[in-house]
Amino acid sequence: MSRFLRSNILIKTPAEIEQMQEAGAIAARALRLACEAVEPGISTQEVNDVAEAAIREASAVPTFLGYSGFPASICASINSEVVHGIPSKGVKLCFGDVVAIDVGATYKGWIGDNADTVAVGEITDDSQQLIDVTRKALYAGIAQCVPGNRLGDISHAIGKVGRAAGLGIIQQYVGHGVGKSLHEEPSIPNEGKAGKGPILKAGMVFALEPMFTLGIDDVVTRDDHWTVVTKDGSRSAQIEHTVAVTEEGPLILTKE
Ligand code: MG
Repeated sequence: MSRFLRSNILIKTPAEIEQMQEAGAIAARALRLACEAVEPGISTQEVNDVAEAAIREASAVPTFLGYSGFPASICASINSEVVHGIPSKGVKLCFGDVVAIDVGATYKGWIGDNADTVAVGEITDDSQQLIDVTRKALYAGIAQCVPGNRLGDISHAIGKVGRAAGLGIIQQYVGHGVGKSLHEEPSIPNEGKAGKGPILKAGMVFALEPMFTLGIDDVVTRDDHWTVVTKDGSRSAQIEHTVAVTEEGPLILTKE
């Protein structure tokens, strides 16, 4: 069955996109501060608290806290953890780790959703390549966010970069529409066919989030019912921006 059968994609007005930009700026700052706090020995709870403080200082609300029962304000996913890692006082980052930090902020009802994967101290060349390629794929996807393109053009652009580098591409977790709800239509797979799917229109807003691995793309969910890990234990990276399709081209909303 086509992944693109449903195409009930909400269109935001220019004024609404401006409001989403405010939420995006808050989410971006919180993510930056959380990433800057990363160092060997810090717990993922402490990283969480840095991001949460930044969000609350801006009179915003951490989008993820309580979302479907999620117990924290950020997701912190280390090494083979792909997404939805739960911050904890007992989990300390180690020299050589990579950690994906995902932060959402809700401001005046609108949501900014972004993520980055950062090195803890020095990392191996293949880990650095994983991060670099994931970022390159995100920007390839963003470049396709122009009116008249199709949704599949985004997926295709992201997946092509990952495949060319020989990386695993997570299929079970995908990008998504975002607005007043964290997950709106459509789902945006990180691999797909160019020229397929709904036509992009100005006012659509997407959270693009390639998730690539150094191994295969099979994942399992841990007993905590949240943390998704690679089946083969290979490292994973996730990088995300919230992006609006506008007449002037792609507009990254999760920017300070
Ligand atoms: Mg997201």
